[in-house]
Amino acid sequence: MSSVETKCVQGGYTPKNGEPRQIPIVQSTTFKYDTGEDMGKLFDLEASGYFYSRLANPTCDSVAAKICALEGGTAAILLSSGMAANFFAAFNICECGGHIVSSSAIYGGTYNLFAVTMKKMGVSVTFVDPDCSDEELNAAFNGNTRLVFGETLANPSLKVLDIERFARAAHSHGVPLIVDNTFPTPVHCNPFKWGADIVTHSTTKYMDGHGAAVGGCIVDSGNFDWFAHADKYPGLCTPDESYHGITYAEKFGQGGAFITKCCAQLMRDLGSTPSPQSAFLLNLGLESLHLRIARHSENALKVAKFLAQNDKISWVRYPGLENDEYYPLACKYMPDGTSGVVSFGVKGGREAAEKFMCGLKLIAIETHVADARSCCLHPASTTHRQMSDEELAGAGVSPDLVRLSCGIENADDLIADIEKALESV
Ligand SMILES: *Cc1c(COP(=O)(O)O)cnc(C)c1O
Repeated sequence: MSSVETKCVQGGYTPKNGEPRQIPIVQSTTFKYDTGEDMGKLFDLEASGYFYSRLANPTCDSVAAKICALEGGTAAILLSSGMAANFFAAFNICECGGHIVSSSAIYGGTYNLFAVTMKKMGVSVTFVDPDCSDEELNAAFNGNTRLVFGETLANPSLKVLDIERFARAAHSHGVPLIVDNTFPTPVHCNPFKWGADIVTHSTTKYMDGHGAAVGGCIVDSGNFDWFAHADKYPGLCTPDESYHGITYAEKFGQGGAFITKCCAQLMRDLGSTPSPQSAFLLNLGLESLHLRIARHSENALKVAKFLAQNDKISWVRYPGLENDEYYPLACKYMPDGTSGVVSFGVKGGREAAEKFMCGLKLIAIETHVADARSCCLHPASTTHRQMSDEELAGAGVSPDLVRLSCGIENADDLIADIEKALESV
């Protein structure tokens, strides 16, 4: 099963003779065993199996296995949201006293997570412009740095991360690169191929794709050698007294340690568990991901080209446009297309942008992206409103920025809707 299309449809679940063709929804909090000894082995991580759905559930595991196959990883875990995925991925290897080097062009929620919430937990962060020089990037590290974080295609700025360059910097400082690959999805970009060590997803976006279920996923490439940097990662390389003295990197190896710790320790204690129902819905989305993401990108390119030649529009950012500043990086990392998201400014700034949005009929105003239905948002007054103008600029968000998420409707209908709304501006 080598192609991405086949993995989208059939990955992660292979029914045996007479078993359900579709992934069964195992709507059960718990699992029955014949002896206490059988169950004891599960608690000791001596045997694999299910005992309580906060930690693991067969439906969720099948869907995680599909995403793992799509990314080309060694292990994966589903979570209740994309935010939980980013938090678990970071906190799994960066605790009190640790430091994160992060691209400043990231999702507003993740920015807050690092800058505000994890700071309260004793974790510090240095944000760098993804386009900074190698000198600036290297200067961001210190002795406590435990990971580098970035987004393949940043939400909402659409800056493209030079994954190879960030991976090189991370590895030269002995830490892994974590990449949030939500926007391009593994259909359009495989961060592991370019040196990323761990990938996260908000599956709420294109993977689900129908605006049906909030969810997240973490995938490990198995490429980072924790023992080679054991002093930095005691959580993986020394015994976990809360888990019968298990040393994750020893017992589960380089390919399994990160996700096992994430599940056995963080999911146990923090419990950001996805529901089997949501995992089932996510899987329905994944079955057509390869078809939808292609159409999303195709529609967005047509819309971006229309906007680029319209005199009421001050600027357009779409990495698939040949004159876009990120076009060369997009060609390298996402040669088959980027995503359905286009950012642009309406002449007349904040007010004009709001007026334009009110004039749309087909395209709805929503705090959402990456849905089969087209929608749009004004980040400066909604998702990013907690940020100062300076922080906004750092995240690549200007006050007039409209983020338009092109769905999989007919592109001409979308363009007609935009054209009509622009008439009112
Ligand atoms: C939406 C989003 C998140 C957060 O995901 P939720 O599922 O809403 O918690 C994280 N990263 C990116 C890039 C996103 O677009």
